[in-house]
Amino acid sequence: MSDTNVQPAPLEMMHEIGSRADLAEEFPEHLRTKFSEVELMCPKCRSEWGAGVAMLINAKTDPAATEGILRGSMHRSRCPACKNYVHDIMHIWDYYDPDNEQIVQVRMDWEYKAGGGEEVYFKRLEDLVMKYQEDEVKVDVVFGMQELRDKYLGGQEAVDAAMRRRDKEIELKLYPGNIRADNESEFFDDEDATTGTA
Ligand SMILES: [Zn+2]
Repeated sequence: MSDTNVQPAPLEMMHEIGSRADLAEEFPEHLRTKFSEVELMCPKCRSEWGAGVAMLINAKTDPAATEGILRGSMHRSRCPACKNYVHDIMHIWDYYDPDNEQIVQVRMDWEYKAGGGEEVYFKRLEDLVMKYQEDEVKVDVVFGMQELRDKYLGGQEAVDAAMRRRDKEIELKLYPGNIRADNESEFFDDEDATTGTA
């Protein structure tokens, strides 16, 4: 998806919204949502700023992050000085879905093409197996958020549903992440529900 109209959403704020901190205790430290920060520089005005990035997202405790992935707002940051430039942050991180006992490492999409295709995939997969060898999880590697959405998050249909939730948030003047797959039934009437059949 390359919807350039999608506004970046600060990760820290999305983390606050809908976060199930009460469930985090169920998971070992290394399987809890974790953030870091990267330094970015604006190619237009040369300003530098720090933006939050995810090291690991636990989909169970941070459902708003999955919304950010579907809507294309995650790992995007707007230059705070000139507000003219939206930076797609190059960053490697892990998406953990406890319900499916699945961890997916999300890498840069150009890496696959530039680095030798399948060979790179298997090498990265091997490293990931080692990283989580003590955990009861399946692991996989994807190159780019598009592949994550297509392979694990329901593809275009899920993206469309997330965009309808975004439109509803705008209509209700709510901050991004307030309406998610896990609570959308509270915000939609039956006739415009994004999931299920009428
Ligand atoms: Zn700038």
